[in-house]
Amino acid sequence: MRATRYFLPTLREVPAEAELASHRLLLRGGFIRKLAAGVYIYLPLGWRVIRKIEQIVREETDRIGGVELFMPALVPQELLDETGRSGLEILFRLKDRHQRPFTLGFTHEEVITDIVRHTVSSYRQMPLVLYQIQTKFRDEPRPRGGVIRAREFLMYDAYSFDTDYDALERTYQAIRVAYVRMFQRMGLPTIIVEAEAGAIGGGSNEEFMIVAEGGEDKVLQCDTCGYGANAEKCELPDPQLTPPPVEGIPPAEKVATPNARTVEEVTAFLNTTADRLVKTLLMRVDGKPVAALVRGDRELNLYKLQHALDGESVEMMDAESIRQITNAPVGFAGPVGLPPDIPILADYELRGLQDFITGANEADAHLIHVCWGRDFPEPRWADLRVAEAGDKCPRCPNGTLREVRGIEVGHIFQLGVKYSEAMGALYTDAEGNQKPIIMGCYGLGVSRCLAAVAEVHHDADGICFPITVAPFEVVLILVNPEDTSQREVAERLYAEMLQAGIEVLYDDRDERSGVKFKDADLIGIPIQVVVGRAVQEGAVEVRLRTDKTPHRVAAEQAVAHLQALIAELKRQYEPTV
Ligand code: ATP
Ligand code: MG
Repeated sequence: MRATRYFLPTLREVPAEAELASHRLLLRGGFIRKLAAGVYIYLPLGWRVIRKIEQIVREETDRIGGVELFMPALVPQELLDETGRSGLEILFRLKDRHQRPFTLGFTHEEVITDIVRHTVSSYRQMPLVLYQIQTKFRDEPRPRGGVIRAREFLMYDAYSFDTDYDALERTYQAIRVAYVRMFQRMGLPTIIVEAEAGAIGGGSNEEFMIVAEGGEDKVLQCDTCGYGANAEKCELPDPQLTPPPVEGIPPAEKVATPNARTVEEVTAFLNTTADRLVKTLLMRVDGKPVAALVRGDRELNLYKLQHALDGESVEMMDAESIRQITNAPVGFAGPVGLPPDIPILADYELRGLQDFITGANEADAHLIHVCWGRDFPEPRWADLRVAEAGDKCPRCPNGTLREVRGIEVGHIFQLGVKYSEAMGALYTDAEGNQKPIIMGCYGLGVSRCLAAVAEVHHDADGICFPITVAPFEVVLILVNPEDTSQREVAERLYAEMLQAGIEVLYDDRDERSGVKFKDADLIGIPIQVVVGRAVQEGAVEVRLRTDKTPHRVAAEQAVAHLQALIAELKRQYEPTV
């Protein structure tokens, strides 16, 4: 491709909202352009990268027997009614001319289950893996990072159908390996962590994360056994603490704490530390009120509370209900004197604490010297808090968790029968019994991976693409277009490269060489071929985007040299599993 014929709208001024390096570089380099909040145009360079990522995920899914199809983005709302997902806030909704409600596909479990319930009826038709690469729509509350969290984005989504859980496990493991291979081929170093199921629901599931400072996800990793989990999920072991004796602890006492509601305000006012304070969070699980207690310096993990009560949903209680229950504004709730029908759950860690401070269920007041078992009944102990760096590993005896930030690039789920039961996707087994199909689903953020690659592979001058997903393999830079011998050599090399099947961007623009070098570095094509003064000695310079050391190569041998170099670079991204 000749730069003079190409469409390369680089950008000089990048908006301040672009905090992540990948976002800035993709905008500056002319890979993407914003149309509206969370809605992006893929410019030709960006689109070429996307197509390569798509090709990798296709090849790897086909390799394990997946079959590609393409489902509509327009999804009748009634399908989501069947699984209870039509009310989700993330959905974009619209109506047709007859006022029939539709949503724009945010994921396609219902659509694929609808297809399968009408077509798969026998155990002989399974295992089956279907997949697509499609545009997804989610009305994200906070679009961010350019294409990292967009409202319209490209996703690869695969769905598996099996007759039993052992078969599902086999399919899941095969797809897990396919994912490892996909990310290795893209040059994305990922870690695999346990995850929460979120709106998809179902059983065990794992996320593929790239570690990046700007990532939105908090990930905990054991320093000893390799266990890793999203902080939303990360279990903590029961430390089995022995309760301290209550003898000698003064009786609970109400103290005035005017306007002190937050942990910081209360501890400052009472001149104490947050680990002496017990936070009482009034929540609703499946609509029913519950009180959750965690130490003042800890964070309640909503999912853990929900799971502790086997609930389907969890939310904070609204201020009005809190006022009714505690006779106080938000910020003064405590376990002493709560209505007895409200269950109290407390984090394991609090078992080792007595003589603590809580809200007094009264405006501007707290209780000090509170003891559970004495001032209120012993609560139900559970793992309730968000894991943090320094916590003990839940899987091995000596490990300690450390914390990294991550960007989720893929997510694989064992769904089980959640969708097949809700939607009646049944099959007949060898004995003639009707059973629900056992499903799995597997998502990968194709457009997010474009950003992830740029986030992982860049330096001060721009992106450094792995050759497997680079928009071109080689950029051919003609230093001085006025110089006929340079131009001749460049033109000849360009023709030879095309002939040899090398993906080349030929910078034949009438620009200063400094501009061309800067642009080449910015857009990150892995191999740079410079046709400049060296042509007088019949040579060109070949260098890598990442190390810049120029290698003189005879112009006649340039193409053979490049072919070898491309093969060598590609080998670095060959999958190891
Ligand atoms: P997140 O937790 O980041 O909101 P999710 O868990 O809701 O994502 P999934 O439903 O698991 O997302 O979607 C599968 C994959 O699609 C994710 O692993 C991610 O790579 C990608 N993805 C999800 N939401 C977005 C988005 N808003 N923009 C771009 N990619 C996305
Ligand atoms: Mg996910």
